[in-house]
Amino acid sequence: MKSFRRELWFHIPQRRQTVDITDQVGEALRDSGVNEGLCLVNAMHITASVYINDAESGLYDDMERWLEKLAPHEPVSQYRHNVGEDNADAHLKRSVMGREVVVAVTDGRLDFGPWERIHYYEFDGRRRKRVLVKIIGE
Ligand code: ZN
Repeated sequence: MKSFRRELWFHIPQRRQTVDITDQVGEALRDSGVNEGLCLVNAMHITASVYINDAESGLYDDMERWLEKLAPHEPVSQYRHNVGEDNADAHLKRSVMGREVVVAVTDGRLDFGPWERIHYYEFDGRRRKRVLVKIIGE
């Protein structure tokens, strides 16, 4: 069995942003040489998510507004976590959107359903953060 590991680095200049990372994960898969197996992609930070959905700008805006209703950033004083920091909403948003995705690898390709794309969702940016790609198979 082959095993392959790669870290993808991000530095989002603002607090929140969605990034389509499907092509970067596909490149990791090509470099892994795995034809049949599984590909795990996870955010390595507790204030960012990796999720799969449509890469469509209207949906990005809808998700942003929906998450902001669930866990508004302001006022920061509403959260008990925000003692000396201001990112409680980012932890909550990450809990809603999840930590990781797993995609089947078939014939050397990510075996997606229609319109599925892998996204990194930053909730507390302005610093370097990582996503782990782990691919196993043969
Ligand atoms: Zn925090």
